[in-house]
Amino acid sequence: MNLISTRNSGESIPAIAAVLKGIASDGGLFVPEVFPIITLDMFTELGKMPYYKVAARVLSAFFGFQDDTAEDMTRSAYARFDDREVVPIQKLGEKEYVIELFHGPTLAFKDMALQVLPRLMERALQNSEQDALILTATSGDTGKAALEGFCDVPRTRIATFYPEDGVAQMQKLQMVTQEGENTYVCAVKGNFDDAQTAVKRLFADPAFGEEVAKKGYTLSSANSINFGRLCPQIAYYLYAYARLVAAGEIRLGEEVNIAVPTGNFGNILAAYYAKRMGLPVERLICASNKNTVLTDFFEGGVYSANREFYKTMSPSMDILISSNLERLLFELYDRNPRYIQEIMEELNENGRFTVDSNIKVRMSRDFYAGFTDEYPTMRTIKKMFDQYGYLMDPHTAVAQHVYEEYNKLMGADDTPTILAATASPFKFAEDVLFSISKERVDDPFLAAQKLAGLAGVGIPDAIGKLAHKKQRFSDVASAGELGGKVLENL
Ligand SMILES: *Cc1c(COP(=O)(O)O)cnc(C)c1O
Repeated sequence: MNLISTRNSGESIPAIAAVLKGIASDGGLFVPEVFPIITLDMFTELGKMPYYKVAARVLSAFFGFQDDTAEDMTRSAYARFDDREVVPIQKLGEKEYVIELFHGPTLAFKDMALQVLPRLMERALQNSEQDALILTATSGDTGKAALEGFCDVPRTRIATFYPEDGVAQMQKLQMVTQEGENTYVCAVKGNFDDAQTAVKRLFADPAFGEEVAKKGYTLSSANSINFGRLCPQIAYYLYAYARLVAAGEIRLGEEVNIAVPTGNFGNILAAYYAKRMGLPVERLICASNKNTVLTDFFEGGVYSANREFYKTMSPSMDILISSNLERLLFELYDRNPRYIQEIMEELNENGRFTVDSNIKVRMSRDFYAGFTDEYPTMRTIKKMFDQYGYLMDPHTAVAQHVYEEYNKLMGADDTPTILAATASPFKFAEDVLFSISKERVDDPFLAAQKLAGLAGVGIPDAIGKLAHKKQRFSDVASAGELGGKVLENL
């Protein structure tokens, strides 16, 4: 299938080429020309398949792969997951289903896509003379998942930038100990948006692009604006639904809610795409932490990044600019790129934009948005543990709490709800332990041990191994210095 740009319907390139390109020439995001349609009968079929086969179906629908190409990719991508199911589903209470998306090598849902993306990239490089240089800004989880995905993948190099004081201890440790000949990690002074803006500027800087090209590389991105990230994420929503139908938990055709802890709007956008493809969804519940830019937008129709930035215990959701929102706006404006151009210009110049009331009405048909502050998040973690013996990480707990609020609002609504669990509680062990037991332990490994003891479970391997790894990277740079750092390390 071809993908088009949100800002100019004239640009249309094959999906696999868009993976390498990352972002369209006009600065827009690549979106599918059409949404492939899944019939209810197909869900019955999907319900009998292992995860990698469902994921392969989704890839093939967008990339047009033949034969076993897609299955080869997804089988190897998910082979490293620490649960045979890949995406285990936990039922909590009467009608809530937690889909655990964190069983990959870096313990966050980013692995679901970032184990697939390098395989797509390798394929895209078959038609390219140059190798790929991947640049990523990360609020914590993307960076490590991208490093792990691209580690020693032929014809690729990857540089990852994280905000110096904006990531959790465990996240930082995971990154600075990264192995691989083709990897580079550097801290950036400032917050995540500063890091992301600096990286975006490099992509737009022709002089930098020329330097990189001279060394034989073409720039590419592993951030969630890359369609190769978005596409594999659609699969788990279809899979979860199909599995729940197969297990007799929901009726074929019955609508479900999907609750997602949201930052860059990539994960929840994948759920929206799944809905457009035929997944029976009543509401998409968009949950934010104290950084409420999305909640305010869905409520009032005004998106404003001109506000204070808060650091929270769900750092992967600390964000002011949710890049993937552009793709939703494109759909809401009936795929008219002229509106998107205007909106994005306004956002660029004034840090804000407003949508008409009819667009607002449309948004609220599909979405409910809410936010949770730190204290209720901690209370939710404790409550889930006390009530179900279930450990929830702070990101997932934000969505759990917003979902509960939505439930209260809806009264006696008994719509089944799928909740996306995006990180292992052990990745944020200090905060999870404190929430449950009020014990403050600053060493993340000790906290993980205590947490495992409380819950009577083992610590994930990926964390156990981390304790013995050597630090490889210690660079810190200001936003203006990133280009130089990248070139030095090519
Ligand atoms: C990235 C991330 C999120 C936010 O996902 P988006 O796709 O950026 O909205 C939520 N939770 C965790 C643990 C994450 O790593």
